[in-house]
Amino acid sequence: DLLKKAGYTICDFDGLCDIYIINTCTVTNNSDKKSRKMINHARSLNNKACIVVCGCFVESAKDYDFSDVDIVIGNKNKSRIVELLDEFFKSKKQINVKEDILHCPFEDMEITSFNDRTRAFVKIQDGCENFCSYCIIPFVRGKCRSKEFNKVISEITTLVNNGYKEVVLTGIHTGNYGVDLGVRFSDLLKEIIKIKGLERLRISSIEATEIDDEFLSVLDSPIICDHLHIPLQSGCDKVLKLMNRKYDTKYYLEKINKIRSIRPDINITTDIIVGFPRETEEDFNETLEFSKKCNFGKIHCFPYSKRDGTRASFMSGHLSNDVKKERNRKLIDLSNKLEKEYQEMFIGKNFDVLIETTKDDNSYGHTSNYLYLKIPKHKENEIISVKVDKNSFVKE
Ligand code: SF4
Repeated sequence: DLLKKAGYTICDFDGLCDIYIINTCTVTNNSDKKSRKMINHARSLNNKACIVVCGCFVESAKDYDFSDVDIVIGNKNKSRIVELLDEFFKSKKQINVKEDILHCPFEDMEITSFNDRTRAFVKIQDGCENFCSYCIIPFVRGKCRSKEFNKVISEITTLVNNGYKEVVLTGIHTGNYGVDLGVRFSDLLKEIIKIKGLERLRISSIEATEIDDEFLSVLDSPIICDHLHIPLQSGCDKVLKLMNRKYDTKYYLEKINKIRSIRPDINITTDIIVGFPRETEEDFNETLEFSKKCNFGKIHCFPYSKRDGTRASFMSGHLSNDVKKERNRKLIDLSNKLEKEYQEMFIGKNFDVLIETTKDDNSYGHTSNYLYLKIPKHKENEIISVKVDKNSFVKE
């Protein structure tokens, strides 16, 4: 958005460009590899181009030689991109503005429109201090910090005035919003749902530990989407402890039961890591059984991937790739079964669909409870009511 406003043209990354911006990831060792590959790829596309590298890999890569990169940014100062490019084109000298990410304030950036999207994503929070034993994020994203309350409200108001009907709240730890501001996430939700013209508010993800009575009291608003993504990571208490997660299965189940007492048909989806160090076959079976008990609408399954620099990478009892793959396959099978059962509950019922794309004679979009449906052609960005049948469901 900043670059477009400054007059730059956004081009295809694989084409011949004057500037290549690589916003890197470092969440797994493999992400690091991909980030390095992408930097080399950009240089090979145009040797004279200005290469900008920012994001988590910059924060974590202690031994990487950035001398071939023209602008090195990190996770702070991304908002200065236009000014940094001006400076580089004047001086032609490498710029490095990487700062101590552990003590940074929230970096404010506002987006007023998105390319090809009917849903607007608003980042309201950054950072995490949970230090799950497998995760590098707290080290590369820094402390929990939030976008100013009034700025969130004004950004969403602008997006709604620009025609967006659905807003998705995002963050590293979205439900932790406000800890640094002395307000609660639920206070923010209460204000957002009052914005005139906003039809849907989706919460990208929330931790079980953030589902308090205040949050539950906002859930009766029809503006808030009938879908919550609540990461579980394991359905075995022994493994949850090894992961340094802050709850056990009993606590998690109590929270989702409370949610369902308010919204019986809500779609609860989750993330689960299988094959964590020292996870036995019995532990994994506990995860399968617990997932059935939770009746998830979908499980995002991840085989444990060793991340250098995390506590889990030093643990004993790492499992073979074959074991991890096999457990992942079993969990995917369960997820597919649960997803189908959840979808089938709604056959014959009417639902509002926000039309996101159109191809040939069909349109595609999500319902409030995140069913992705194919329907006869309609205008994009309209919300229309459709009767769901067994052929309505499509994979994204
Ligand atoms: Fe990583 Fe755990 Fe924080 Fe999520 S809650 S970002 S998994 S440390």
